[in-house]
Amino acid sequence: MTETVDSIAGVRALIAREKAALVAAGVASPRVALVPTMGALHNGHVALVERATELAEIVVVSIFVNPTQFNAAEDLQRYPRDLEADVVTLSAVSGPSHSTSLVVFAPAVDAMYPSGTTQTIVSAGRAGNTLEGRSRAGHFDGVLTVVSKLLNIVRPDIVLFGQKDAQQAFLVGRMITDLDIATSIEVVPTVREDDGLALSSRNRFLDERERRASRVLSQMLEAAESAADRGIDTVIAAAQSVAMGEPLVQVDYLAVVDPATFSPVDDDHRGRAIVLVAAKVGSTRLIDNETIYLG
Ligand code: AMP
Repeated sequence: MTETVDSIAGVRALIAREKAALVAAGVASPRVALVPTMGALHNGHVALVERATELAEIVVVSIFVNPTQFNAAEDLQRYPRDLEADVVTLSAVSGPSHSTSLVVFAPAVDAMYPSGTTQTIVSAGRAGNTLEGRSRAGHFDGVLTVVSKLLNIVRPDIVLFGQKDAQQAFLVGRMITDLDIATSIEVVPTVREDDGLALSSRNRFLDERERRASRVLSQMLEAAESAADRGIDTVIAAAQSVAMGEPLVQVDYLAVVDPATFSPVDDDHRGRAIVLVAAKVGSTRLIDNETIYLG
């Protein structure tokens, strides 16, 4: 069953009602999962929602294009919005027991920011100013602020994020720990097209040539992975050489970070690391990442 609400009071009331109904039906402590999204849902989002239905009886999917995480030069106006299609997509998701209550929380901007914006901002700190944060000033403060609001509104037992946005998942996880927020985070693997391109709401902006060229991002990560036992410089060089073969792809950054800190790894780093890439393909900015094991 899928129900859509657009107010904070409405979603709180709906969750309370669903919890009470589950308790009455014999579920002692119904769990709530939250999947924050900006809509324009694709199979990457669906993977998060499907996983959420395995973890909780009540799944809240928020759909909110959050203005405070876009900066002036970015694509807030251009960001795709189609609530009706999103609700159809979500209605087709069935949990393992087919009895999950799916709540779609789709507030308007003035429901989330009644005074136009918020004076109180959660700072993502230093790791919020690197990589995506360096290219998009203030982006992660906007993300953490709206995620805090959503966590306070929904009070989920678990919140799910995609590995596709690895830095975002890291910063949200750290915020939950740092601010003692009573929830836990699960990070879901990236869903890809057959040729390796990570699914993204922005892929629809690629024309045919750009779409073909965009395979380079995942190919860079594969090249990095193949070089993982030959040292960090070789890893970077291997990925860069793939990008050089595709003039339509302009790399913004290519980095290898320690998953525990999101700082660039030292030359002597061994074990798990994350390779991240951001690139412009035509006018569309894409990101991707892969975990590798440095030998
Ligand atoms: P967005 O609507 O782009 O803000 O994404 C909402 C959530 O879906 C975030 O946690 C993303 O990391 C996740 N997500 C986006 N694309 C993918 C993908 N291809 N695979 C897995 N998760 C994804």
